[in-house]
Amino acid sequence: MPELPEVETIRAQLAPRLEGRTLVRVEILDPRLTRPFDLFEIAEELEGDRVVGVERRGKYLLVRLESGLGLLVHLRMTGSFGFAPASHERAVIELDDGGRLGYRDVRRFGTWLVLDGVELEPYLAAKNGPEPLGSRFTASWLSAELVRRRAPLKAVLLDQRVVAGLGNIYADEALWRARLNPLRPANELSADEVARLSRAIRATLRAGIERQGSTLRDYVAPDGATGSMQDEFRVYGRDGEPCQRCRVTITKTRVGGRGTWFCPRCQPLEVSNAGSDTGPT
Ligand SMILES: [Zn+2]
Repeated sequence: MPELPEVETIRAQLAPRLEGRTLVRVEILDPRLTRPFDLFEIAEELEGDRVVGVERRGKYLLVRLESGLGLLVHLRMTGSFGFAPASHERAVIELDDGGRLGYRDVRRFGTWLVLDGVELEPYLAAKNGPEPLGSRFTASWLSAELVRRRAPLKAVLLDQRVVAGLGNIYADEALWRARLNPLRPANELSADEVARLSRAIRATLRAGIERQGSTLRDYVAPDGATGSMQDEFRVYGRDGEPCQRCRVTITKTRVGGRGTWFCPRCQPLEVSNAGSDTGPT
């Protein structure tokens, strides 16, 4: 599933090709994409409108239109955009400069939703916490979210209202970087650990964006290129391999039904207070 770095990579490639362009023809080929709304009505709303911006919020892509409408796209498992015709296309947009943008989705979980200006912000704000690379995402904000939850740390991090755009891959990578066990109760982290975690989340996402995301299964950027972040994974998908920090074998478990990888030595479940400056005296 595309996470923040993959969606940001897609946004950065779509923006220069779409901004200023009029959507001359919009053909939606799969009623699942727009349900419960009728695909012809959605296509008609979009046709003739002009793109003023392509933005990202969490894992959502937002195509802002001159009329004030916004096309909100969630790629879910396998949605992607491409400028060249491809298999499994669920929608095709023709642009006034002769360009063609296809939306493909093998597993068909992706969604297209058209909202007007006043609906957009409340809709996005209800589903997404602050952007982890923005100024509102601070250690104190993260701490306030974590202390209210007894759930396993990783499960809380996957809640989009806590960390917008973080998913299974980058959550595991950030936890390894922060040396925190994914099964620790979220409300038991020390202030030092929360600070480490918030830094690790940002560093992991920035590394993903720099490498144009990671390429697993169906994710391909609109220009057809593949990202390289998968080569940098320290734990995700690496069970049986040695930890790059301590050489102990990476372990796989499940948290909230999701495959979860961690180093049992660097990310211990039981944390001793020895050597900690925040432990009880
Ligand atoms: Zn290790």
